[in-house]
Amino acid sequence: MTCVLCPNQSKGVGEHVWPLWLIQDFHGQGPFTTNKAGVAYTKRDGVTPVTAVALPGVHVPMCEPCNSELNRSIEEPVKPVIRALLPWSSNHAWPTITADEAAALARWFLKIGLLAGHPDAVHDNPHVQRDEDFPRFERVEPAWLDWMRTGSAPPADFSVYIAKRDVMGEQHWEGDTQRIFLPTRIMVGDRELGFATRSFGLRGLDVTMVWHPGWPILHPLEEAGRVAALWPDPAPIDFTKLPDVHPREFSFTVGFGTRMMSEAGFEAATQEPLSVTTDPFVQFFGD
Ligand SMILES: [Zn+2]
Repeated sequence: MTCVLCPNQSKGVGEHVWPLWLIQDFHGQGPFTTNKAGVAYTKRDGVTPVTAVALPGVHVPMCEPCNSELNRSIEEPVKPVIRALLPWSSNHAWPTITADEAAALARWFLKIGLLAGHPDAVHDNPHVQRDEDFPRFERVEPAWLDWMRTGSAPPADFSVYIAKRDVMGEQHWEGDTQRIFLPTRIMVGDRELGFATRSFGLRGLDVTMVWHPGWPILHPLEEAGRVAALWPDPAPIDFTKLPDVHPREFSFTVGFGTRMMSEAGFEAATQEPLSVTTDPFVQFFGD
């Protein structure tokens, strides 16, 4: 297999998308179940959840130099931040993180989200690996991965949001879900702009990443101080000030096919940010 970041041959199992140090931090915390859209994968009886003693892994083909670069520029800087952040006990004290620590988290979450959804990802959990509907990116833009190989900053066309989530597990949610719609694809002259989003969680935290080239986002929960943005403008975050947010409170939805626009038309349309109050049909297709 070829490395997902460069033309070299992959070495061994490649890159652990969820790193081994994190899987080891969760040692003894199992059994673990794997959920898709909030529903656990089950055994043949269709009822009993499939459980694993260790946190199930995902890997992608990767060569040794790229693997070392990711370890240096992404894993090592984030380790102390994640260890202070994850609520391991009932007397957990939520920290305040610095702008540099927010940037380290953004890089790490982007790495996990982008590589877990990569078409070449291999999931240890055979139910996930066999599931043809498990969400994978249809196409991976070179700009999504280039920064990982070079150790540089991720593109500013990514936004990464973080929210606190109830540690006791999913609670019932009756309210409406607020949505921001993203166009699937916009052809601007001869540029093709694809939009994509992915959400995932780990103990007490939910992360959402959005690829929205050239079109700003007005996130209602960020405006309300209920979620914090890690990227593209990392800033200090006081996690004691963030409330728990239910995953169904808000979502990004990609849809509506392909739209052609001129450069001038795109420039004009993107003056209005993507938000929960705009009508996507009017915003993407005009009247
Ligand atoms: Zn490589």
